[in-house]
Amino acid sequence: MTVPVFRFAPSPNGLLHLGHAYSALLNFSMARATGGRFLLRIEDIDTTRCTPELEEQIYRDLAWLGIEWEEPVRRQSEHIDDYAQALERLVDAEIVYPSFMSRGEVRDFVAEAEADGTPWPRDPDGVPIFPPLDRERSQAERLQRMEAGEPFAWRLDMEAAHRHVASRFFWEESGSGPKGETGRIAARPEAWGDVVIARKEVPTSYHLAVVVDDSLQGVTHVVRGRDLFHATAVHRLLQELLGLPVPRYHHHALILDESGRKLSKSRGDTGIAALRAAGATPADVARMVGLEPVR
Ligand code: GLU
Repeated sequence: MTVPVFRFAPSPNGLLHLGHAYSALLNFSMARATGGRFLLRIEDIDTTRCTPELEEQIYRDLAWLGIEWEEPVRRQSEHIDDYAQALERLVDAEIVYPSFMSRGEVRDFVAEAEADGTPWPRDPDGVPIFPPLDRERSQAERLQRMEAGEPFAWRLDMEAAHRHVASRFFWEESGSGPKGETGRIAARPEAWGDVVIARKEVPTSYHLAVVVDDSLQGVTHVVRGRDLFHATAVHRLLQELLGLPVPRYHHHALILDESGRKLSKSRGDTGIAALRAAGATPADVARMVGLEPVR
């Protein structure tokens, strides 16, 4: 039997809070309970927001919680070539196209489309679906703009992608989605429109890096917050397109603040370091998120 492989994959763009403690402890305890491995992966492709100090703090916080991980830790910023290779396959297959529109241009397009009161469609996160303009450009115009050095992102052509894969594909969900979805889930990536596969400033995106890494690291169980439940449909599509193995997924509940809002790094909610400074023990933190302390 293959050994289960779990991973906790934080981004060092803020301090870890109770929600991360829950996710990390849950992964670690599931790995222990199944005789599996536990990996830590640093998702630091966003070089404008990730810092070495925040990364160091992640190691300190996790070690303080009693979590042990395998070395070396995979740091995404050191593996950009792996993602670039996967991107190249999608470019060659003509499943992605260069998109030039700026955020402002997208905003204006949506405002204009909604001017008569018809709502422009939104993705599962509530973000407007990317307008079709860049997808509809001629090859000549694309080449000319790329050669002129205009910045562009690569976006998945959702319709073209669907022509390359089976009409229906699924994932096994042992946690649940926002509406309690569990068991065999039919992936509906089209709900996201033409997602970014490689950003303007780095030749990858969260979606691409996560599926490439989960495959390269042999991850068998993806245990993460329910806020990524719907994104799993995009991950499944990329796995189908790139011929990658499919892990099992477990989306766990999110830890909420007193007013029922999801904890956020940017609001500086209940940081693990702050709890420690206030005198909490690792066992206290484990109990606060409803888990057994690590022994
Ligand atoms: N890096 C992502 C985050 O910090 C988690 C990605 C994942 O677990 O798939 O939200």
